[in-house]
Amino acid sequence: MIARLFLALILLALAGCGRGGPDEGILARALGLPADVGGICGFDDMLGRELGDIGSGGACGIEDPVKVYAIGGVKLDSQPRINCRTATALRSWVTGPAQDAARDEGVLVTDLRVVAGYACRRRNNRPSGRLSEHAKGNAVDIAAFTLSDGTVVTVSDDWSGSDYSGLMRAFHRTACGPFGTVLGPKSDRFHQDHFHFDTAEYRSGPYCK
Ligand SMILES: [Zn+2]
Repeated sequence: MIARLFLALILLALAGCGRGGPDEGILARALGLPADVGGICGFDDMLGRELGDIGSGGACGIEDPVKVYAIGGVKLDSQPRINCRTATALRSWVTGPAQDAARDEGVLVTDLRVVAGYACRRRNNRPSGRLSEHAKGNAVDIAAFTLSDGTVVTVSDDWSGSDYSGLMRAFHRTACGPFGTVLGPKSDRFHQDHFHFDTAEYRSGPYCK
C-alpha cells in the first residue's frame, strides 16, 4: 500500500516535469536564453515560445506558431516564427545529420544564423507569382553556422573553394528528407548566400537543389 502511494507520488512529480521543467530552465540559462523559454512542439530539447495565431484567415499566416530559440543545445542567432511541423523537421536535421557531418570534421555546430522565418511575401520577394512558403510558416532560411572551435562558415563564402565546402554541401544534402524543399547556391540566383528549407508537400517527392 505504502509502496503504491510512493509510486503514484513519483509519477505525479515526473508528470510535472514535462513542459517548462527544471532541466529546460537550466539549459536555457546555459545558452543565455530568457529563463521563461521552454520545450515546444513536444520536445524538451527544443526551446522556444508558443505564440498566438498569426494572420486572420488571409493568405498569409500560421496556426499555432512557435518562436524557436535553441534546438538540442544549438542556439538560433535570430528566432524564426514557424509552425511545429517545420520546427520538428529543423530539429531532425540539426540534431541528426547536420551534427553528424560536423562531427566528421571534429567539431559540433553551436549556432545557426537564421535569416528568415515567417514573412508575408511572394516567392523570392518578387511583386507577383506564388506565395512563399515563408508566408505560411513552412520555411526557414539559414545563412551561416558557428562551429565549436569558433569558426563561422557561411553559405556565401564556404559553398565553393573553401576548406569547409564539403561540410557546407553535407549540411545542404542531408536537409533533403527532413525538408521537402532544399535550395542552395546551385538552385538559382536568389539562393547564393543562404539555404532555404521548407516543409511544403509535393506530389512528386522532395525537391532539393
Ligand atoms: Zn527561404
